[in-house]
Amino acid sequence: ARKFFVGGNWKCNGTVKSNEELVKVLNAAEVPGTDVVEVVVAPAAVHIPAVQAALRKDFSASAKTGLAKGLLPNPLKHRSDSLQAALRKDFSVSAQNCWQGKGGAFTGELSAEMLKDLGLPWVILGHSERRHILKESDEMIADKVAYALSQGLGVIYCIGEKLEERESGNTMAVNARQMKALADKISDWSQVVVAYEPVWAIGTGKVATPQQAQEVHDEVRKWLAANVSPEAAAATRIIYGGSVTAANCGDLATQPDIDGFLVGGASLKPEFVDIIKAAE
Ligand code: 13P
Repeated sequence: ARKFFVGGNWKCNGTVKSNEELVKVLNAAEVPGTDVVEVVVAPAAVHIPAVQAALRKDFSASAKTGLAKGLLPNPLKHRSDSLQAALRKDFSVSAQNCWQGKGGAFTGELSAEMLKDLGLPWVILGHSERRHILKESDEMIADKVAYALSQGLGVIYCIGEKLEERESGNTMAVNARQMKALADKISDWSQVVVAYEPVWAIGTGKVATPQQAQEVHDEVRKWLAANVSPEAAAATRIIYGGSVTAANCGDLATQPDIDGFLVGGASLKPEFVDIIKAAE
């Protein structure tokens, strides 16, 4: 049983005030418990500490490290045990990118060590906007993932074909190439969530049909079985991203190989709460 995973990728959006408002909505949301769904939000890097401090807490080991080090305020300190237990049905925070090796003289970059030091459990790597706008190569992204994993971060690894690649019949060739680039550099996939995000569906309002998404998820899972291991194929969460909304997430969530979502635009709105509920 793969636990449903819902990520909100806030991309390069938000102000201190708009994030406070969004966090207020998330903190008040009644969503299924952590036994049913894992929820992660990825604010812009500069907003991470504020969101981390304001968001209801995740008592995972990594979040505890940050609290124990006194890096984060602990709003639960004076609350009752039962309330603490209720608040454990919770959200955690992810970064949207990081550098591919140890930090140092790399102006403008964020290192995996920094993210770990903040107590972040996750980082998104290989997003199509970084692949295609920032020109990150398959190899660079695989290096980033390998290094982030070596530092104890979980990785949301994004793959996906462009429209012309789909139209020329190369959908699976492209996704397999992106999977292989990573498989060449890592052997343990237990801390990786694969996000299938067809580029033509991102921010376009053109969501993949449940059949289109299921077909690729199934092929990616078969690829893992053949090239990594049957165990990794069975255990790895493969989530879908690209114009997911409250209106279309229900049908997508019923597909056997869709284990959750990575949500862009709709994760900036109260609608995100309804997408989390698709886990049930
Ligand atoms: P949209 O949900 O805005 O299409 O973005 C998807 C995405 O890129 C999530 O990483």
